[in-house]
Amino acid sequence: MKTDVKPAKYIFFTGGVVSSVGKGLTAASIGRLLKERGFKVAIQKLDPYINVDPGTMSPYQHGEVFVLDDGSETDLDLGHYERLMDIHLNKECNVTTGQVYASVISKERRGDYLGGTIQVIPHITNEIKRRVRLIAKLTGAEFVLVEVGGTVGDIESLPFLEALRQLRRDIGLERTFYIHATWLPHISATGELKTKPTQHSVRELRSIGIAPNMIIARSDYPINDALLEKISSFCDVLKRAVIPMETAPTYYHVPLKLEQAHVAEFILKHFKQNPHQKPQWRKWKKMIASARNPKIKLKIAIVGKYVELHDAYISVREALYHAAFKHQASLDLLWIQSVDLEKGNRWEDLKSADGIIVPGGFGSRGIEGKIQVIQYARENKIPYFGLCLGMQLMVVEFARFIFKERRANSTEFDRRTPYPVIDLMPDQKGISDMGGTMRLGLYPCNLQPGTLAARAYKKESVNERHRHRFELNNVYREALEEHGMIFSGKSPDGKLVEIAELKDHPFMLGTQFHPEFLSRPNRPHPLFNGFIKAVIQTNLE
Ligand code: GLN
Repeated sequence: MKTDVKPAKYIFFTGGVVSSVGKGLTAASIGRLLKERGFKVAIQKLDPYINVDPGTMSPYQHGEVFVLDDGSETDLDLGHYERLMDIHLNKECNVTTGQVYASVISKERRGDYLGGTIQVIPHITNEIKRRVRLIAKLTGAEFVLVEVGGTVGDIESLPFLEALRQLRRDIGLERTFYIHATWLPHISATGELKTKPTQHSVRELRSIGIAPNMIIARSDYPINDALLEKISSFCDVLKRAVIPMETAPTYYHVPLKLEQAHVAEFILKHFKQNPHQKPQWRKWKKMIASARNPKIKLKIAIVGKYVELHDAYISVREALYHAAFKHQASLDLLWIQSVDLEKGNRWEDLKSADGIIVPGGFGSRGIEGKIQVIQYARENKIPYFGLCLGMQLMVVEFARFIFKERRANSTEFDRRTPYPVIDLMPDQKGISDMGGTMRLGLYPCNLQPGTLAARAYKKESVNERHRHRFELNNVYREALEEHGMIFSGKSPDGKLVEIAELKDHPFMLGTQFHPEFLSRPNRPHPLFNGFIKAVIQTNLE
């Protein structure tokens, strides 16, 4: 029988000149442009580092670890993909050098290569290609977008680029499209933007055998026509395919800017493919406009450990924006290092905030500062939202208050505390491998009717993404409840507390899970929405 399924088309993204040019955001936005045209789109990130996943990496090194439904710990670019394309990804969507080598080496140990000498080409490149092509098989997507992490010229990314070069030969020119994102540096003495680094990085890419079909030229300054002409002629890419991308006012402007530059039309023309439908940007534009004409300005403090690097809390930041868009509020985010508060600094700033967030975190540095903030939010009835660690510390603070015992703590920070209100989950005891062994991914949570959480969700049961080893110690449930803490979300068997909230407070709520991972533009997460609503209400009172 003949099937109608057409083979997938591939769009590959590489980066040049420097990292952090917004390649992931660009890839996600182009995915959105195609999805808006009715295509089934899948997306994958190839990360050249040797870690099996970023789960064991410090947020300072790598930014946020983004957790998927299936519990895989992935690169933060997958967060951009899920948010901007409004999709759910899975573990196959983030491939690292570590994973590729681990599977080739285990095949070798099993004797699968029948005595062959294992080499980067073809064994490693074949494994990369297999993983890239798997995405189309798993999803049936019409377009598969593949982003290579790092910068062209890095030693680590060579096997990935070689694999992508080979793919063009394997599946044909007409089914592959290469986009190279670069950066135009600005020389302030002459006020000029420079294209030379772009020329060099395209030359480097060509020397590997990849000729880009499109160049996205990023800059903090306006890019004039002469520069586009220059890039076009030196890099041998049609001028229409040299896309100027000046830094956008927000994350959510990027798809619209790419739309205005007719990026999708150019790509579809290459693939000789007509769109299935016309893109609809009305709601998206409305969302952005609401941020431009805010009805109210809100100050939200994010008190964390890695706040110098905002990338460490990208999903939290974006989830706040999604909720703010809905309420036509503008946000002033105060990033506060909790260690500073311990030293008595930045309290003026913190006290100017209309709402406070303590996000997820690990390790003991800055814990006491966070607990002081939580006490301040409880006593002064400032809306507070705790995410994972932020929920655990909310329980610790409350326990210190009701038991009148300063040493109440989580055993993560004090193993000999007389009140271990947060403790290691039983199935976490005895684990010595750190990678991929936390309680990870989507778990169901039943909501107690009539609570703040149930009112925010308007549901009886939800599924949320987790990443933690510790949990509320059930020995203390009753005592905490007696004093006004409500456990409004629990695992279906009732054994794990997933949401805690306080009575007689406008919004003091913490989740053991990470709601930020499931928030979407135009569809804010119900709890972030509830938090922002409470912030607005208390602000108006
Ligand atoms: N460190 C805490 C735990 O492991 C919280 C983790 C988090 O905030 N993601 O349970």
